[in-house]
Amino acid sequence: MTYTLKNADLNELMQKTIEKNPSQNEFYQAVYEFMLSVEAILDIHPELIDKKVIERILEPERQVMFRVAWVDDKGEIQVNRGYRIQFNSAIGPYKGGLRLHPSVNLGIIKFLGFEQIFKNSLTGLAMGGAKGGSDFDPKGKSDNEVMAFCQSFMRELYRHIGPDCDVPAGDIGTGAREIGYMYGQYKKITNECTGILTGKKLSFGGSLARTEATGYGLCYFVNCMLKKMGTSFEGKTVAISGSGNVAIYAAEKATQLGAKVVTLSDSNGYIYDEKGINLDLVKKIKEVERKRIKEYVAVETSAKYTEGCSGVWTIPCDIALPCATQNELNIDSAKTLVANGVKIVAEGANMPTTPDALDFLMNSGVKFAPGKASNAGGVATSCLEMAQNSQRLSWTFEEVDAKLKGIMENIFMNVDSTATQIGHEDNYVMGANIAGLLKVSDAMIAQGCI
Ligand code: NDP
Repeated sequence: MTYTLKNADLNELMQKTIEKNPSQNEFYQAVYEFMLSVEAILDIHPELIDKKVIERILEPERQVMFRVAWVDDKGEIQVNRGYRIQFNSAIGPYKGGLRLHPSVNLGIIKFLGFEQIFKNSLTGLAMGGAKGGSDFDPKGKSDNEVMAFCQSFMRELYRHIGPDCDVPAGDIGTGAREIGYMYGQYKKITNECTGILTGKKLSFGGSLARTEATGYGLCYFVNCMLKKMGTSFEGKTVAISGSGNVAIYAAEKATQLGAKVVTLSDSNGYIYDEKGINLDLVKKIKEVERKRIKEYVAVETSAKYTEGCSGVWTIPCDIALPCATQNELNIDSAKTLVANGVKIVAEGANMPTTPDALDFLMNSGVKFAPGKASNAGGVATSCLEMAQNSQRLSWTFEEVDAKLKGIMENIFMNVDSTATQIGHEDNYVMGANIAGLLKVSDAMIAQGCI
């Protein structure tokens, strides 16, 4: 893929980014998509170049990479690589998840950290952008092995984070179990019971509704899009990919709002249940038994399981919610979705849509919500968890859910009005990039050359 921009200054920065950060394709992809939006406002915001805001934003404030050695159940030493990229703290302490997946590398953590800057800005809350993780694969590991890894990971990470400096959270492969082991180790080393990680269990400072937040928030955002289109979730058919935290709770909220969710998937294949997914069964399989999604059809015998995860987008739907991983929805899938009459594609995952698929969807009149706006409910609720931890209080599910809904509606209004102001109505990609950027830019300029 070539990354060429019309504006000479931006093009130079893009090429410099590629030279300085070899073999980081996902990072280039995220930067390029962002730069295309910036290009549209450079004439009214010359400070973005003059004050080197864009050049500074592209360079993480701090990048930490470290060895994570641990002992498996056979007594053998295993070695993984850990990362924490503290990208930008202009508007608040660094915040962003920890991904545990064998595909993790520096480019993936950097794309996630880069997008997190603008996502966190859009929430209206005081959080800078960061991301971290490791190439450790929790799948197939015993509880003991996961604990050994998490403790070793935290033995290094603890010195780089703090409740007013950097508060990590979960992401792919990092759920309440992993957060619990990391939190325990942090407390043991520092002798401090601060809310250093979010996504904790309720018994030691977690927030009600954090588990549901990203998926619910995604549906609150889509609900605003539907309202603007003069319709609602009622009676719509929804296809969802993934069967993890985001996918399950997006399915739950879409169903509560009157839609029929017909698919879920994992990296092996997808299930199609024409009568609507049985979520109690999915939660039992995925959250309690930690099994594969294909187990669903052993109980719901009228549903179908098909090998190959991208097939999920061949199922006709009104709304598609990619909630698995980056670049999972490609141009062929986009063409099939459009041919089958999709009206909305909203990203639950981070950057699940490839650039050509994104162009095709938008040029075909599909309303498109970028993850940095539509999946911001998770990090927003993490910030609500931090607020509760600082106050030594806990709020009810209803209180947190109401705040989450309000935040997602505000994000939609901000993104929608920004897109309209710059003459690109309904282009939520541009709206999100620009609204997110301008707040960060203002803070960076006010704080001087740092
Ligand atoms: P989970 O680990 O809970 O679930 C991930 C799901 O995606 C699993 O079903 C997994 O299947 C599937 N998946 C992972 N890799 C691939 C792949 N290469 N191809 C196909 N499917 C794959 O993660 P989350 O639900 O927490 O995260 C999903 C996405 O949402 C990620 O992009 C994450 O960054 C983003 N996100 C998450 C937030 C949160 O609060 N959790 C907040 C904002 C964004 P398998 O089991 O086979 O690997």
